[in-house]
Amino acid sequence: VKQNPGEGEFHQAVKEVLDSLRIVIDANEEKYRKAALLERLVEPERIISFRVPWVDDNGQVRVNKGFRVQFNSAIGPYKGGLRLHPSVNQGILKFLGFEQTFKNSLTGLPIGGGKGGSDFDPKGKSDREVMAFCQSFMTELSKYIGADQDVPAGDIGVGAREIGYLYGQYKRMTGLYEGVLTGKGLSYGGSLVRTQATGYGLIYILDEMLRRNGRELEGKNVVISGSGNVAIYASEKAIQLGAKVVALSDSNGYIYDKSGIRLDVVKEIKEVRRGRIKEYANEVASVAYTEGKGIWTIPCDIALPCATQNELNLEDAKSLKANGCFAVAEGANMPSTREATDFFLENGMLFMPGKAANAGGVATSALEMSQNSLRLSWSFDEVDKKLHEIMVGIYEKTAKAAKRYGVKGNYVAGANIAGFEKVVEAMMAQGIV
Ligand code: NDP
Repeated sequence: VKQNPGEGEFHQAVKEVLDSLRIVIDANEEKYRKAALLERLVEPERIISFRVPWVDDNGQVRVNKGFRVQFNSAIGPYKGGLRLHPSVNQGILKFLGFEQTFKNSLTGLPIGGGKGGSDFDPKGKSDREVMAFCQSFMTELSKYIGADQDVPAGDIGVGAREIGYLYGQYKRMTGLYEGVLTGKGLSYGGSLVRTQATGYGLIYILDEMLRRNGRELEGKNVVISGSGNVAIYASEKAIQLGAKVVALSDSNGYIYDKSGIRLDVVKEIKEVRRGRIKEYANEVASVAYTEGKGIWTIPCDIALPCATQNELNLEDAKSLKANGCFAVAEGANMPSTREATDFFLENGMLFMPGKAANAGGVATSALEMSQNSLRLSWSFDEVDKKLHEIMVGIYEKTAKAAKRYGVKGNYVAGANIAGFEKVVEAMMAQGIV
């Protein structure tokens, strides 16, 4: 805490991981201490921070902060998204990069951990302003990334439009046509299924967790927070598998429809018009829109937080349980506070943490990197099948690691242990770096 002041989310993530690794650390204490393994693990290999000046539509020069946290390259080139949101700061990106290292390890693919972004807010900006920002951001970032070095992707506020502008500028700065970003458009090296991957992957692992615990997804009521990329495609797959999605939200409020939300209307509002979730209530009469927080008070069987960090606290967890919810899987990164996570684990609820549950996005990004290297494009079904296999594999690794250390059913510990083991093995083998 003293060495990293003011980085609350980073402390929270590190503490949660190290607490759940206690059993593994105790068993290897001498070896890890001598190699200062934990000290190295929690210190990013490199943080790049830079000025991002750009000109708005009124001719006014604006300045944002830009960052890339290159956290850990033990098992592959740094890989992780770029976030554009006013809340972005170094501590948040460090928490995300730290988590990403274990998540990427869990996928079984050769990717290290990184994260980046800016406090730029794309909301309400014109396309030209977004392009001006992205070009300025990439002008600096392009010096530090590359297809075999660091491969960023999308996250909050970074979708297909932003990736396009960023890619164009990277190419212009370096002269290289290479897989330096993932989430690209299909016409310039993108992979089928990448758009859907995080949401679909979340439902694949949820489905696996339910079936392995004698439950099923079909016929269940599901509450999903957020209405961005992850929330939309989690809804799509959940509906395809026979569940009913009854609520969605954004940072202003939430919609609730007992009869099930119409995803075609949500997609039109969010993906075509870039509108707000409350507009849904103007289109569909049966729905109630409520301003503010409160989505976790809605009765449901399954809750999927898919918006942002610390959006679900202890009170929310208690309210979910009291209203009949028996399973939670995290589409977002660290959406449940530590107290909420502990409550889920101590009260017999099925709980899959984000590190495992939302790894489908980065796994498919790694498949995009493979296709770029091969200069080939795989079909939708091929990529979707691989994504499904990867998510089932993550479930298995997570469940087995928990069982091996005597905490069966604790997927938080399982995911941390399984992710940690591979990174540590690679770090130890590569010497003091
Ligand atoms: P989007 O920008 O597409 O959507 C984010 C959604 O969350 C929006 O509905 C947004 O509402 C809401 N939200 C964002 N910040 C806040 C906040 N501070 N309070 C309340 N609601 C908020 O992002 P994604 O769907 O891509 O990302 C959602 C989560 O999933 C993030 O935690 C991200 O790190 C994680 N994730 C994403 C992956 C991906 O492939 N995209 C991969 C793995 C994890 P509003 O419009 O009002 O801001």
